[in-house]
Amino acid sequence: MFKRIDYYAGDPILGLMDKFFADPNPNKVNLGIGIYYDEVGEMPVLDCVKVAEQRIADPIAPRPYLPMAGLPGHRKACQDLLFGKEAQALQENCIATIATIGGSGALKVGAEFIHEWFPQSKCYVSDPTWSNHIAIFAGCDIEVGSYPYYDNATSSLKFDEMIDFFEKLNKYDVVLLHPCCHNPTGMDLTQAQWDTVLDVIKQRELIPFMDIAYQGFGQDMDSDAYAIRKAVDMNLPLFVSNSFSKNLSLYGERVGGLSVVCPSADEAERVFGQLNFTVRRIYTSPPSHGGHVVDIVMNDELLNQQWVSEVYGMRDRIKTMRLTLKSVLETKLPKLNFDYITRQNGMFSFTGLTPQQVEQLQSEFGVYMVSNSRMCVAGLNDSNVDYVANAMAEVLKA
Ligand code: PMP
Repeated sequence: MFKRIDYYAGDPILGLMDKFFADPNPNKVNLGIGIYYDEVGEMPVLDCVKVAEQRIADPIAPRPYLPMAGLPGHRKACQDLLFGKEAQALQENCIATIATIGGSGALKVGAEFIHEWFPQSKCYVSDPTWSNHIAIFAGCDIEVGSYPYYDNATSSLKFDEMIDFFEKLNKYDVVLLHPCCHNPTGMDLTQAQWDTVLDVIKQRELIPFMDIAYQGFGQDMDSDAYAIRKAVDMNLPLFVSNSFSKNLSLYGERVGGLSVVCPSADEAERVFGQLNFTVRRIYTSPPSHGGHVVDIVMNDELLNQQWVSEVYGMRDRIKTMRLTLKSVLETKLPKLNFDYITRQNGMFSFTGLTPQQVEQLQSEFGVYMVSNSRMCVAGLNDSNVDYVANAMAEVLKA
């Protein structure tokens, strides 16, 4: 009966984690999955989160179902962070926001909604993108295509090609964009480039879907949301999926949000209702623990300030690691150019290594990165950065 079921080859990034843990090499370094590790190689529990956890634990409260849309305080936290507390669209109730099961859950609910209400729309993702973007949209029976984004040969954006591509799309086609810290390339648009992209989106009546999973890891909380806020200022309809996995270091709690910016409060109410119904059909309501942590940290002024500075601490450590990696590589291989390492933002660096070189790094040195050459810079620290740079230099020399 089940013989016709295809085997699942596993997720390439999650599978890499299993391979890493099974590797007996004492020098092994995990630069595969997008997780922030601190200077001693451990996943941090943020101090602001510790305070929130203490408040939740004392007294231990009953666990009712949450509303389909999640906790109001979680939803407000998403809105304030993404759009800015003072956003006019918020004051006019034009933004429908639900709390979701991580950023992945937000993408899924958003894609289901699009499939149901904009059945003709195709979705275009950047080439390359986080592979689950394709899987999630295609999994909702939406046709997925890709737009030019990154040029491996020059380690730079294919900006003109991207604009030409957008100019040929049809009304209501969805373009999936990364407002900051592009995954996997780390190459972001400048503000002027965003302005151009958004002009084309407006003119072609496309639907922008912005997926932001690393807010605070690029420039700062506000600059990282530039594209989102500019789209709202331009009165564009807009979908935003956000994740707190990385910036609250709450990976396993599965906390995120989906916001849909609408032209009017009436439309936002309709959309909010349908988002609730979409959630009801898939999982009824989100889990409560992480939602309470988000609510407490983000809505308490002092804890929020503490959170921002903790995120900036993580951001700065990654930037320092980029500088160190670049300078060791430049010393080892003076003829090669490693400027791309510090031009890229966020957790990832797209190294341009071939799949064979990535494989060699893994088998000879126990250095794990994704086969498309994406390295999670947040896995580097003072104790392993020289080792990784040396290993990279060896495979680049070969
Ligand atoms: N979007 C992007 C671009 C991501 O990198 C990730 C996480 N790797 C997500 C969404 C999903 O976030 P979450 O882990 O919260 O589901």
